[in-house]
Amino acid sequence: MTTVGILGGGQLARMLALSGAPLGLRFQVLDPSAEACAGQVAPLVVGDYGDRAVLDELASRVDVATFDFENVPADAARHLATVVDVRPNPAALAAAQDRLSEKTLFRQIGIPVPAFQDVASREGLDAAVASVGTPCILKTRRLGYDGKGQFRIRTAGDVDAAWQALGAQAGLVGLILEAFVPFERELSVVAVRARDGEFRTWPLTWNWHVDGVLSASLAPAPGIEPGLAAAAASHARRLAEALDYVGVFALELFCRDGELLANEMAPRVHNSGHWTIEGAQTSQFENHLRAVLGLPLGATDAIGHACMLNWIGEMPDPAPVLREAGGHWHDYGKQARPGRKVGHATVRADTPESLAGALERIGAALGRQAQVAPVLEALGGASLS
Ligand code: AMP
Repeated sequence: MTTVGILGGGQLARMLALSGAPLGLRFQVLDPSAEACAGQVAPLVVGDYGDRAVLDELASRVDVATFDFENVPADAARHLATVVDVRPNPAALAAAQDRLSEKTLFRQIGIPVPAFQDVASREGLDAAVASVGTPCILKTRRLGYDGKGQFRIRTAGDVDAAWQALGAQAGLVGLILEAFVPFERELSVVAVRARDGEFRTWPLTWNWHVDGVLSASLAPAPGIEPGLAAAAASHARRLAEALDYVGVFALELFCRDGELLANEMAPRVHNSGHWTIEGAQTSQFENHLRAVLGLPLGATDAIGHACMLNWIGEMPDPAPVLREAGGHWHDYGKQARPGRKVGHATVRADTPESLAGALERIGAALGRQAQVAPVLEALGGASLS
């Protein structure tokens, strides 16, 4: 019997545990909150990531450890790694936790990035804005996610407000200023690397965000030239090899004028890969477990076309999704709260036209036409079974 330890007990840990059950795996999840939703499907240890006794106790019960949350302190992962295999390795986790070191690494290994500057002071911000230009975005280097810890600077007149909003963070988690990219699309490549170096990517995913939070994903992203898909896969492979990465990760990319610019990597299974549960031969969750355990990887081909809709703040009525032949429902068992990811739906279909038809019906029935509209547009306004 193999037991996998997971640092972080959110929906990603929950979906990892659910996908590991058919493989005969057991899990131990560590989270500071007794309410962590993975605890509904796997044994939960409630404790602080920084508590060495808790980490040692977890290590004694598991064969390998991984995480569902990139802001788990890298020190906790390093400590755990002295006792048990930790995959991906703690250095990869640490690299991805800091936007500055992450973007510096991207640049070093030839992955194009938007212009960026480290910002350590108010004067430094002025100099960075002069160098990067406007519009630009001031972000915290660490502990930001889902658009949190960001301030958009449209003109030089916004610099004071940006410093007021985030300046206090400069000495705590550091700041980075990035050029604003007027992208045509946001894409992500979800990839997996095995212990023996085998590397696979799922088809590119097209993502739409609202207020910095993922709202919808469509895969395979339609209208992608083969060269672009190959470039994305090659960027991901270089990154995985540079970090000696084992497991699943996502590389988020802006696409502009046929060029890709990297935004960030997530060193874990990723929201833009949730469609793979029903829409691919092997899901990101199963392949992550296969990779960390040294099992053969599964095929990553898409099965038809899939759209994932995120439910933020509250769960809608499931019936319109469940009525669709390819409709799948995921309720994370979390308490509803504004801005919180509480669930998602994936709609899978054999053709873009039938996917569009199902999304139209779901959008209308749930009053979520705005959420499905960009997906329908991307599907070519395909009409409608
Ligand atoms: P992040 O937390 O960096 O993933 O940012 C959340 C979202 O904000 C991204 O998915 C984009 O929609 C937007 N965003 C972040 N950085 C930039 C940028 N440099 N240019 C344009 N949009 C951005």
